[in-house]
Amino acid sequence: MSDTQMLNMSAVEMARAVRDRSLSARKLAEAALNRAETVGRSLNAVTQVLADSALASADAVDFAVSRGEDPGPLAGVPMVLKDNICTREGYTTCGCRFLERYRSPFDATCVERLRGAGAVIIAKANLDEFAMGGSGENSAFGATRNPWDVSRVPGGSSSGSAACVAAGIAPIALGSDTGGSIRQPAGFCGITGLKPTYGRVSRWGLVAFASSLDQLGPLARNAQDAAVALSVISGEDPRDSTCARVAREDFADAITRADRDNQPRIIGVARQGRGSGNHPSVNLAIEQAMALYRDAGFELVDVDLHAGDEAIAAYYIIAAAEASSNLARFDGVRYGRRAELSPGEGLSDLYTRSRTEGFGPEVQRRIMLGTYVLSSGYYDAYYNTALKARRVIKNAFDAIFARGCRAVLLPSSPGPAFKLGEKNNDPLAMYLEDIYTVSVNLAGLPAITIPAGIASVEGKDLPVGVQLIGPALSEASLLRLASVFESRSSFHLRRPPG
Ligand code: GLN
Repeated sequence: MSDTQMLNMSAVEMARAVRDRSLSARKLAEAALNRAETVGRSLNAVTQVLADSALASADAVDFAVSRGEDPGPLAGVPMVLKDNICTREGYTTCGCRFLERYRSPFDATCVERLRGAGAVIIAKANLDEFAMGGSGENSAFGATRNPWDVSRVPGGSSSGSAACVAAGIAPIALGSDTGGSIRQPAGFCGITGLKPTYGRVSRWGLVAFASSLDQLGPLARNAQDAAVALSVISGEDPRDSTCARVAREDFADAITRADRDNQPRIIGVARQGRGSGNHPSVNLAIEQAMALYRDAGFELVDVDLHAGDEAIAAYYIIAAAEASSNLARFDGVRYGRRAELSPGEGLSDLYTRSRTEGFGPEVQRRIMLGTYVLSSGYYDAYYNTALKARRVIKNAFDAIFARGCRAVLLPSSPGPAFKLGEKNNDPLAMYLEDIYTVSVNLAGLPAITIPAGIASVEGKDLPVGVQLIGPALSEASLLRLASVFESRSSFHLRRPPG
């Protein structure tokens, strides 16, 4: 089997082949590492390739199999982690100069669980600095490119995770989603991205951006692989007190047993997602998704989310407020880079200079915005008002689900991938790109992006994604809906050229 054929297998197929010894984890790891070094580097999708530790893990998997042991459901599967997830191996840079040489003394809970399930971590993925951004262009290590068209962004902030999966470097990557950072890049790269319910996956070892919104989740080439990854990483963790106290579930099994699906067969279509502000390909993808589900026996009803631009405003106030507090720990003393002081300079110069030199412009903008909205004179006008808006948004979703809707259909972004540099100098235009994703985080809900269309833009094929949003802890139901979509379409099988 050629390297490309091997890497085109799904994660489930890879693990099966490794477990029955028809493929060695080492061969898989070598192929993935090689592609990460070549394709991954040329897309600037990886911050580091972890060759030594990956080969050692792969050998350990092969050894376990040879002794008749079962390494787990991800046996030998090459994986990529967004570089804001702490790993003992290599650095955890967060796409930031401050942490360029930061070595975590521990593995994040999700990393421990992945290793425990036999996964082989081959690389850390590029990202917008501290996950702040929607294009991958805010990384201190340069922009990631979209494998479908290298003059375009792959989306963000999990830019490298999405690009690696789409480019066939690894079948699954982990990303984090604070306001859309798994779902929007999944849409731009033609893959599946699952943002779990807040609390479903432990955040221990995920470098915090906005703690009440952050959630880790998988990006994969199909629903089944996303389901396996979620089953492994989810579940209670005593080290994260915000973790939901629910039993671990086998989400892959939930997909295979789709015939036993007894969930409601009504899907809400959000009016807010069908505006004239969308690229025509997005409206077409929504129409086609509606037709697909109707043919599959679902009833489609119009629903109202009661928030559009307000969600963006509330999100950027709350996320910035929390970020300004979380990022106070980067002071030049405790973590990472420390500024050189000139004679006569003191401690406050150390803080100011380290932070000025260490953080990029977008992170500084958010810290200033967050500090402002939390300041005593403006707290009520901005932060408190944003919290009220958050409640209204949550109530609107609750009302829709209480009426019997199983999920809400919405685009994952207003258009397909935009050009590198197109929105980078206009923060507000960039923020508006998040219009369809942020309310999900504000309400703490799970949502999945499904590849649902191809737009032809300037002679290039570009993927278009749609999202399905469900009530809290409804991941199994969303994954089933995604697999219904896959069984009636072929967008998830399309690969970028090259
Ligand atoms: N684009 C959004 C932002 O810039 C979302 C980021 C995220 O989900 N990490 O904040």
